[in-house]
Amino acid sequence: MRFNTKTIHAGVAPDPSTGAIMTPIFQTSTYVQNAPGDHKGYEYGRTQNPTRDALQQNLAALENGKYGLCYSTGLGAIDAVMKTLSPGDEVISTSDLYGGTYRLFVKIFAKYGIKFIFVNMSNASDVEAHITSNTKILWVETPTNPMMNIIDIAFVGEIAKKHNVLLCVDNTFASPYLQNPLDLGADLVMHSLTKYISGHSDVVMGALITSNDKLYEDLKFVQNASGATPGPQDCFLVLRGIKTLHVRMQRHCENGAVVAKFLASHPAVSNVYWCGFESHPNHDVAKKQMHDFGGMISFTFKDDTMETALAFLKKIKLFALAESLGGVESLVGHPASMTHASIPREERLKNGLTDALIRLSVGIEDIEDLIEDLKQAL
Ligand SMILES: *Cc1c(COP(=O)(O)O)cnc(C)c1O
Repeated sequence: MRFNTKTIHAGVAPDPSTGAIMTPIFQTSTYVQNAPGDHKGYEYGRTQNPTRDALQQNLAALENGKYGLCYSTGLGAIDAVMKTLSPGDEVISTSDLYGGTYRLFVKIFAKYGIKFIFVNMSNASDVEAHITSNTKILWVETPTNPMMNIIDIAFVGEIAKKHNVLLCVDNTFASPYLQNPLDLGADLVMHSLTKYISGHSDVVMGALITSNDKLYEDLKFVQNASGATPGPQDCFLVLRGIKTLHVRMQRHCENGAVVAKFLASHPAVSNVYWCGFESHPNHDVAKKQMHDFGGMISFTFKDDTMETALAFLKKIKLFALAESLGGVESLVGHPASMTHASIPREERLKNGLTDALIRLSVGIEDIEDLIEDLKQAL
């Protein structure tokens, strides 16, 4: 099956007892056994659920992986990955990563003796210099949030293989429609399903996908033992959202390209961060590893002050001021005070995340309405 067909059919089948074409919501906490241990593969809701199974198999297919695992949130998924490590282990991560991931690493897992090193991986050869015999995971986000840097997954994958380290890619920003890290040499893909995959801003959920048998067994153990599993109704909503992932993504990309070009030509705007521009420092890598450039865009003002950013945010109407991204509706965010407030200011500035930086999640509305709104607000 090709990608668009997989979004609709992979992992799902009409319900054998009724013929219901949509996967039922198996709202049950337990399953009846004929005799102790004699059951149909389902024992307890935390451990297994048929609606979750369908979603997990669908996600595995979308990322060309063998196994999918779902968690109650994206951070729950990352938490599970970190729980496979032991004190003394080291993780090398991209520097401008999602604020919540940064917080989980440095405020929670560092306490338990796991060491985190943050590196600008745009120049992937810098990564190798930080690898030690304790390095267990390379954690990569690409495009990065909110600076839209692009990391060469295949190149980092070669380094990971050479040093026998696992490469994990947070693929939330790209979605499996744009990029499939397992095909490029990654061992594990992580998604916040909250964003493009569910796509309608009505669910919070996370997932991990891998083809590595040992890693899958370890992660599945954590999924059950730690218990950050999603409910069946949320799994149903994500499955429903995925059926239109490809059509939504196509429009996100089309609208994103028009918005990026409009911003770049506007006299009040200084930098526009979008990997579709030929002038983007990693445009060639983006072209090589992504099918298109997506609808996430950041920009700064010529007058790069907090006041300018706040004035813009007050005037913009159709782009709703909110955390999150990847829904059908356009959103605008101010990373310095919202998604990235948990990162110290000096750290932020080092990566170009200024006080006035604005991040857009371009939705799938009529592009003329989006441009008119940006025009009046700028
Ligand atoms: C939102 C997000 C997460 C965290 O996912 P939640 O579902 O909010 O827990 C992780 N990484 C990226 C890139 C995100 O955008």
